[in-house]
Amino acid sequence: MPGSAPPLRRIGLFGGTFDPPHVGHLVTAVNVRHALDLDVVVLMVANVPWQKEGTRQITPAADRLAMVEAAVSDVRGLLPGRQEIDLGGHSFTADTLEVLAVEYPGSELFTIIGDDAAAGLRTWTRWDEVVERSHLVVVDRPGEAVALADDIDWTRVEVPRLEVSSTDLRARFTDGRPLDYLITQPVLDVISRRGLYGASS
Ligand code: ATP
Ligand code: MG
Repeated sequence: MPGSAPPLRRIGLFGGTFDPPHVGHLVTAVNVRHALDLDVVVLMVANVPWQKEGTRQITPAADRLAMVEAAVSDVRGLLPGRQEIDLGGHSFTADTLEVLAVEYPGSELFTIIGDDAAAGLRTWTRWDEVVERSHLVVVDRPGEAVALADDIDWTRVEVPRLEVSSTDLRARFTDGRPLDYLITQPVLDVISRRGLYGASS
């Protein structure tokens, strides 16, 4: 209808280093999108993941973005997020939510995190702004149940629990174990084209 307000949109923010993106990320994103009836889930690539800095070598942000673009290009409702890279510097979810609120005015924002990340929410810079600006959505990863602060209004979503991590995948590249079915083919193509993780291009 001309002149009518655009429908309120429900936007999921699923942030990570994505070094590399894997099926655990994708299965989580599509299932949370479905469960909460989100219009889109943005897989937001951290520019400088400050909590991981100094712990290991991190693949350049442009390469991680190229992998995420490849991962979601054929998936309805998932978008690659480059806003943290555009902002530059260290990436803080509180800032990212501010950017998304401007890009999607009037929308409801949902911050999606694995329970390992959720357990550390209070170590995040301006975590209270994250709580104010978005609904917090938690998915369980395999392993010991993680205790979450009970004064935060988490929404838990059940997704298939896949014991896949980028850390394990990087080790597989190093020691030559198979990657099949853990990373999708479009991502593997980017990895070999760009010679990432020691892959020969
Ligand atoms: P790394 O091992 O390098 O930490 P990762 O596999 O944990 O990598 P991240 O980029 O750190 O991936 O994670 C981004 C987000 O995805 C986090 O909220 C994390 O909890 C979540 N996540 C990662 N792997 C899974 C998985 N297998 N199932 C559900 N959530 C996951
Ligand atoms: Mg992690």
